[in-house]
Amino acid sequence: MAKVQAVRGMHDILMEETLRWQLLEDIIQSLFSQYGYQEIRLPIVENTELFSRSIGHDTDIVSKEMYTFTDRNEASLTLRPEGTTGCVRVGIEHGLFHNQAQRLWYAGPMFRHERPQKGRQRQFHQIGVETFGFAGPDIDIEMILICARLWQRLQINNNVRLEINTLGTMANRRDYRKKLVDYFSDNRDKLDEDSLTRLKQNPLRILDSKNPAMRELIDNAPLLTDYLDDESAEHFSTLQRGLDTASINYTINPKLVRGLDYYSRTVFEWITDLLGTQGTVCAGGRYDGLVEQHGFTTTPAIGFAIGVERLLELVDADEFSKSTAPHIYLITSGVDKNLSAMLLAEKLRDMSDGLRVQMHCGGGSLKSQFKRADKSGALMAVILGKDELANKQVTIKFLREERPQIRLEQSELPGFVEKQLNTVLIQ
Ligand code: ATP
Ligand code: MG
Repeated sequence: MAKVQAVRGMHDILMEETLRWQLLEDIIQSLFSQYGYQEIRLPIVENTELFSRSIGHDTDIVSKEMYTFTDRNEASLTLRPEGTTGCVRVGIEHGLFHNQAQRLWYAGPMFRHERPQKGRQRQFHQIGVETFGFAGPDIDIEMILICARLWQRLQINNNVRLEINTLGTMANRRDYRKKLVDYFSDNRDKLDEDSLTRLKQNPLRILDSKNPAMRELIDNAPLLTDYLDDESAEHFSTLQRGLDTASINYTINPKLVRGLDYYSRTVFEWITDLLGTQGTVCAGGRYDGLVEQHGFTTTPAIGFAIGVERLLELVDADEFSKSTAPHIYLITSGVDKNLSAMLLAEKLRDMSDGLRVQMHCGGGSLKSQFKRADKSGALMAVILGKDELANKQVTIKFLREERPQIRLEQSELPGFVEKQLNTVLIQ
């Protein structure tokens, strides 16, 4: 019978890789709390309408990427393709936006039915930040500072660069849209099929095209910057001043429009040149109109999302790893003796939360147990054989250094272990 395999585009994350995810999670938890952000956890499945209403019908996500299905009650549900809209729903549903500002973050899997390739899965993970109630541009600067600090901690700051742009207001975009439609209509013969569709539905997104053949046409298109209102222009220049003051390098990319419809004013992307065409590691922007679109009073908002798989591709695997090898591997001379060995192992674990004690289970000869102990990477083996048991003693064999084995009273073991491992446990 054919073996059942993982769904295409949905990856297993095995043990060694999971360690790197855990390290990243530790770092982001402490980083976000440094800046006063609180974590929220959202359902993976939402009512389809949540996304179709806000992300925009003619975006890639809604038009062709959503995992939508009907449940047993005929309700249309969707595996979340992103986190922002879920945050907005939660905020409104739980009254988080009533006369208060929020700084939130989340992490978890997202689902999009795209063509799987390097850096593009159907189940992928995002770490996201969303803030509500801050009109900026101070918080816009904070968004970018948080990212910059994360790159620094992960030692990838030299491998990512920042691009920023402003999308102005809805009114700015309406004026601009007209100009753009004129321009692209005049050049209709140079548009690819995708862009012809976008021209009808959402012409701004032609600028987002990844087709190299369209490059020149897009480069010569009119610029949104020429249609900004004074306030948006001021917002954008304050953002730039803030970044200059904080010595953050950036380039202004007037063609940066982002895939989603609900952005306004500040948009930004952190891009790497090391991952080929799937080079955007983090993308964000302001979406002042989204909360209102969901039926609540207008609430300014800005956030970003990091693609975790792409980010981890960039991080040096050797530098960014942690050891999970046991400190102590406990060996016994027979299954019947396991109980006292188990209790001894528990006593050792009581000493410190950081002490890793692996109990040999499943019996076997002493020789085979030593083999396992060695393979586990443990620093030392503690042996509780027949003789040791009868005399309330243990034997210690050092697995990583040339040193004769020693015999101790069981009561001396905790003191000995503490002394031996002091340096290891402090890490
Ligand atoms: P792209 O232009 O690459 O399709 P996007 O505009 O659809 O990206 P966002 O919705 O802004 O992406 O998501 C934020 C980040 O999540 C992206 O910058 C990327 O790092 C990551 N991401 C998005 N889609 C995928 C995917 N299918 N597989 C892996 N990572 C993804
Ligand atoms: Mg996409």
